[in-house]
Amino acid sequence: MLSKIHKLETVAKELDPCVEKRQIWAKQVIKHSEEFMETLNTDKSKAFNKTEHNGNQLLYSLIKEEPTPMENLLELFRHNVERNGLVESHGGHMAYVNSGGLYPSSLADYLSDVVNPYSAMFHDSPGSVRIENMVLKWIAACFGYPDSFAGNLTSGGSASTVLALAAARDSRNIKARDFNKCVVYTTTLSHYCAEKALNTIGMREVVRRTIAVDSNYKMDVDILRETVKKDIEAGLIPFVVYTTAGTTDLGSVDPLETIAGISREFNIWMHVDACYGGFFILSEEATHLFKGIEKSDSFCVDPHKSLFIPYGCGAVLVKEGSKLAYSNALNRPAFYLEDSFKDECQDEPSPCNLSFELSRHFRGLRVWMPLKLFGIRPFRSALGEKILLARYFYDRLSETDGFQLGPYPELSVVVFRFIKCPCDTETFNKELLEQLMKDGRIALASTRINGVYYLRICILCFRTHLKEMDLLIKLISVNVKKMLKAISVKPWEQQEQYVRG
Ligand SMILES: *Cc1c(COP(=O)(O)O)cnc(C)c1O
Repeated sequence: MLSKIHKLETVAKELDPCVEKRQIWAKQVIKHSEEFMETLNTDKSKAFNKTEHNGNQLLYSLIKEEPTPMENLLELFRHNVERNGLVESHGGHMAYVNSGGLYPSSLADYLSDVVNPYSAMFHDSPGSVRIENMVLKWIAACFGYPDSFAGNLTSGGSASTVLALAAARDSRNIKARDFNKCVVYTTTLSHYCAEKALNTIGMREVVRRTIAVDSNYKMDVDILRETVKKDIEAGLIPFVVYTTAGTTDLGSVDPLETIAGISREFNIWMHVDACYGGFFILSEEATHLFKGIEKSDSFCVDPHKSLFIPYGCGAVLVKEGSKLAYSNALNRPAFYLEDSFKDECQDEPSPCNLSFELSRHFRGLRVWMPLKLFGIRPFRSALGEKILLARYFYDRLSETDGFQLGPYPELSVVVFRFIKCPCDTETFNKELLEQLMKDGRIALASTRINGVYYLRICILCFRTHLKEMDLLIKLISVNVKKMLKAISVKPWEQQEQYVRG
């Protein structure tokens, strides 16, 4: 047996490379990432790369018994991942909801992966849990939550929402037999993670009321009040008002203060989905919009969106912390965890007691490190800048002939469409989007307002500045002109056909 152990050990030790080998790998990776970041600033790089291969080279590089050299892996990565599809860290990326990915977070991830602390439990890694809790306390303070809150750093907004809605459910001791009497109030602009979270926590049968939005695309509070009253009369249980502070489609913020009043009056759990827009509270341009969030029962905010942290970091906060704890409490911990759950080991709450997760990535460090290294000031400026860039773009485009714009941006989303075209407007705008994406220097997306197709930008990468906005305005105008010209030189009957591509 001993000789077999020795033999296995020799090969097993390949998993623990020597310092020379580590340094070579680290150097290669750093060199590669530096090249990537440097090209981001040049005209060569694109925010969107459409490829024919769609990364299919990866399929031919199988995972085998034998090792593959680092340089091959980096080449595969560059070709199939980096230069294929959207480039989230690019200043020209204005599609969907992007963040960029602050560099210090990557160093934090490196450290946290090398050290690999068990951030699930205070007993096992008091320091890492304190960092997680410091980050949560800072978030709570930003939003005016009291010290009695509890929170958790999650993988993202969708996971956060599951925790928040489960806490809402358990806080009222709602039983499965009553699920079909519980009512959840959303709007047409609520994110679909609400729906998914309800399904995940087993509440598929809840009654879902989609409250209309007013002319400012905010939850219509009069309709909400009326609907709640009718539901109570009908013997239903108003359960959760799902408000949004920064809708994904338009960036509109629901009237939180008024809805907090209604929620209190009728004893409904008020949840705020601030996943996209939450950290705009740090900018004086937007602080006032969030008034009333401190009166909510829970909210979600994604550091991996408006705090520019790389993907994989959301946060959920519940105002009465005991409710989140109750929702995730166990009758008894596993036998193998007995020591970790001893009372004297609970100076600080452990993340695993406030979530469905146990072993987890040490997410706190990737938020804590940039906040500490930079200080909060540049975050405030970057967020204020993004709002003003949205307004700048809005103003410039509304001065341009032929464009119709959506609502004036409260946060950093602008929607627009070209309407002076001698053909079907939707078809024209879809083609315009395609042309812009083919160019790839700026990436954008589309949405619909009341069924009408609009192009949409969301300015949220910390690398987006005036230069990118001016480039986008130029690209839009050049492409519209080109398309109009192409149509006008064709006989009428072919125009429609051309625009269809
Ligand atoms: C992005 C987003 C979500 C979902 O968050 P993920 O982190 O992508 O899971 C929820 N709500 C809003 C308003 C969002 O913009």
